[in-house]
Amino acid sequence: MQLSFSAEDRAFQQEVRSFLKDYLPPRRRAQERLGIALSRDEYVQWHRILYERGWVAPTWPKEYGGPGWTVTQRFIFEEELGEAYAPRPLPYGLVMCGSMLIRFGTPEQKAFYLPRILSAEDLWCQGYSEPGAGSDLAGLQTRAERRGDRYVVNGTKIWTSYAHYANRCFCLVRTARGARKQDGVSVLLIDLERPSVTIRPIIGLDGLHYLNQVFFDNVEVPATDLVGEEGDGWKIAKYILGHERVGVASFARARKLLARLKKIAAAERDAGRPLIETDAFRRKVAEIEIELTSLQTTGLRVLAALSADREVGPEASLLKIRGTEVEQRISELMSEAIAWYGHPYDGPVLKDGWNEPPIGPDYAATVNPFYFFWRKASISGGSNEIQRNIIAKRTLGL
Ligand SMILES: Cc1cc2nc3c(=O)[nH]c(=O)nc-3n(C[C@H](O)[C@H](O)[C@H](O)COP(=O)(O)OP(=O)(O)OC[C@H]3O[C@@H](n4cnc5c(N)ncnc54)[C@H](O)[C@@H]3O)c2cc1C
Repeated sequence: MQLSFSAEDRAFQQEVRSFLKDYLPPRRRAQERLGIALSRDEYVQWHRILYERGWVAPTWPKEYGGPGWTVTQRFIFEEELGEAYAPRPLPYGLVMCGSMLIRFGTPEQKAFYLPRILSAEDLWCQGYSEPGAGSDLAGLQTRAERRGDRYVVNGTKIWTSYAHYANRCFCLVRTARGARKQDGVSVLLIDLERPSVTIRPIIGLDGLHYLNQVFFDNVEVPATDLVGEEGDGWKIAKYILGHERVGVASFARARKLLARLKKIAAAERDAGRPLIETDAFRRKVAEIEIELTSLQTTGLRVLAALSADREVGPEASLLKIRGTEVEQRISELMSEAIAWYGHPYDGPVLKDGWNEPPIGPDYAATVNPFYFFWRKASISGGSNEIQRNIIAKRTLGL
């Protein structure tokens, strides 16, 4: 699929470019380029810059505060963010919870929550996984018992990304025991600032804190914060996962990573020659470039489905598998290219930057933390093995 932009699209592209040139804080750009994590305040600041411009929720319809863009404009916007090394705002409110409420929320829920998501007054996290219920998500045990006009929630969620940044959680809970495990699952919107909620950090392989375990101990939730009907949770969860998996693959970001890999491989030498000029390394880079081009085409097909308000089917799984594999492969090749300069790595470099004298070339400092960080990509959002099962069942009919 070849995209040729109309004159209006090219004008829009220029508008996005000059906005990013003027408003993207240089430190955010540098953080994104080096793969350094953003603090809560930094996320909120960048979110609000996009919000002020009316561009923070590209996928939302205009009536809810979205920019009302065409698929091509959304594509251009994503690409320009990637080109400019602009971080993406956290997706849990804007992409997942927002899309869910637009589709399944009551008028009151939309009126209350959507503006707060847009303005970053609320930051959300996603409460799906539990100890013992990850791939087998329907096995979740967190209970919500209806008592009058409230639910009382007990249980725990794990691997909850950025729960320590968030003040709300959209949560899968069990409201009944049905014939199938998928029955009796519901979605509740939970205020994390209640005293009976505890959030504990989990430190990742890269030494950083973005994961958490969240505990609910008799947490009271107003019944008006149930999304859809009781028992609709499985249907809603699948809808949100489609959006999540599409969001996982960013080809603009992957292209920038590939460009960074090429720069590193041009600077590093193998027996006196730039690494990028050796046949073996060139072949590896070419393979990734081909993968990335086909990934981009699939991404456009999925965007078209989303804009026509069609459910995103197994293509989202395909995108998730390939998108994460490509980025993992790039991170592996970067690590291979810098060789021993990667050994003295330090995880917190990704969070706070680095003010020690560099060991080896500047670009080497974040390569291995980034490699470790990306190991998670094939697990979060539903592991790639599970995505393959979905394709086998729903596309191949196996
Ligand atoms: C960095 C990160 C961020 C995350 N953020 C969130 C979040 O914000 N909110 C949230 O709710 N969850 C989050 N998760 C959880 C994530 O969704 C789960 O880790 C994932 O679904 C896998 O579940 P599990 O960890 O329980 O592994 P398990 O389900 O125990 O799987 C272990 C291994 O067995 C394989 N496996 C399991 N079942 C099958 C099968 N039927 N066929 C083939 N292979 C199988 C899996 O692929 C995996 O390799 C996050 C995870 C990570 C790593």
